[in-house]
Amino acid sequence: PQGFPMPGLTAADLPLQGMTILAVEDSRFASEALRLLCRRAGARLRRAETLAQARAHLRVYRPDVVIVDLGLPDGSGGSLIRDLVLAQPRPAVVLGASGDAQGRARALAAGADGFLDKPVPSLAVFCTTLLAHLPDPGQIGANQTGAALIPDPLALHDDLTHAADLLAQNPDAPARQHLSGFLNGLARR
Ligand code: CA
Repeated sequence: PQGFPMPGLTAADLPLQGMTILAVEDSRFASEALRLLCRRAGARLRRAETLAQARAHLRVYRPDVVIVDLGLPDGSGGSLIRDLVLAQPRPAVVLGASGDAQGRARALAAGADGFLDKPVPSLAVFCTTLLAHLPDPGQIGANQTGAALIPDPLALHDDLTHAADLLAQNPDAPARQHLSGFLNGLARR
């Protein structure tokens, strides 16, 4: 198809192309993983670290997908999820995210369309979770007024280099485990 920058690449290689995703996430490492996933899938990621920042973002633009960490520095992500699913118009997909065993139940109780475990186990899980809850894929990107997103599959190499740098700079074990699990997910694809 027209528009893909590399021969041999198809829409299947950029399953979330054109999508704008807002991640409300205070963990630097969880955000980094989401950034890599979004870039690999062709989606544009914006990030808010607090409920207050998220509300400021939502006054300025309308993301297609919002991923809300349940534990945020200024309150529970559940309250934001409730507001988002009741908003008119509402984002196409609102997902909760947590590393806790009770996270899924809490997110769904707040009205989330679905849930992402942290760390996200693979690119495939990430993409299928988002796409499974998408009511109308044709609408994605339709609310964006700027220039079309230009995906850059070659940036994967840069992402991996950056991830390796992060690992080298951050010796704490949970962070290493988080990133290395993510990288293995990419490698298995
Ligand atoms: Ca958190």
